[in-house]
Amino acid sequence: MHRLIFLGPPGAGKGTQATILAREMGLAHLSTGDLLRAAVAAGTPLGVEADRYMRAGQLVPDRLVLGILEERVGETDTAAGFILDGFPRTVPQATALERIAPATRVISFEIPESRLVERLTQRRVCSTCGTPYNLSTNPPARPGVCDRDGAPLAHRSDDQPEPVRTRLKVYWEKTAPLLDYYAGRGLLLRVDADAPVDAVGRRIRAALAERPTEGL
Ligand code: ADP
Ligand code: AMP
Repeated sequence: MHRLIFLGPPGAGKGTQATILAREMGLAHLSTGDLLRAAVAAGTPLGVEADRYMRAGQLVPDRLVLGILEERVGETDTAAGFILDGFPRTVPQATALERIAPATRVISFEIPESRLVERLTQRRVCSTCGTPYNLSTNPPARPGVCDRDGAPLAHRSDDQPEPVRTRLKVYWEKTAPLLDYYAGRGLLLRVDADAPVDAVGRRIRAALAERPTEGL
């Protein structure tokens, strides 16, 4: 059974690949960013507290993220496995995950930093299902609406140049140490993510097939 982590900087393509591969592989797609944005939209106490960190491009405190993640992992659709997209982002989150549901493989999305700003500022996301698009590299079939459910596309407030710069800095400080953490546990698979969407998907599937997790 796969319990995968998609690890990489903001804009590397984790959400795009998780959306496609979760469907193909029959796995649940768990995005802590999507869960937090839903809490913000619903105006829950957690959403109200998370909102100011997210707007600034800072990480939401571990205790808040762990609460929603643990709740989501406990839902029935995760029984056949899942893809974690955007979690863990700190070493304490990674150690907590080992207690909740240990990962079987970690895919590292490797991409030059210069590509990320361009990908993020051109990103648009479905306002209901969260599917990401890109005005230049990955546009929807009809401008401004989601291919999957026809809902309008939105421009995330943290996809503006200033929060994007903060998010990249935070990634290198807080999240990049997880590369060594998972490499040291023999779970890390490095994938070159600087290629068209289809090619990156093929590379992820090939990397997983080369290092099967049967028996884990
Ligand atoms: P992440 O979840 O890692 O932050 P996304 O999957 O949302 O990243 O992708 C960031 C942006 O880059 C989106 O606009 C998306 O459409 C675009 N994108 C994703 N994968 C590729 C790719 N392989 N080539 C070009 N653009 C891509
Ligand atoms: P994402 O949708 O993954 O780009 O996440 C958007 C924002 O949500 C991040 O910039 C953080 O503010 C917050 N966030 C999402 N996942 C986490 C996490 N695992 N830990 C802390 N903050 C998170």
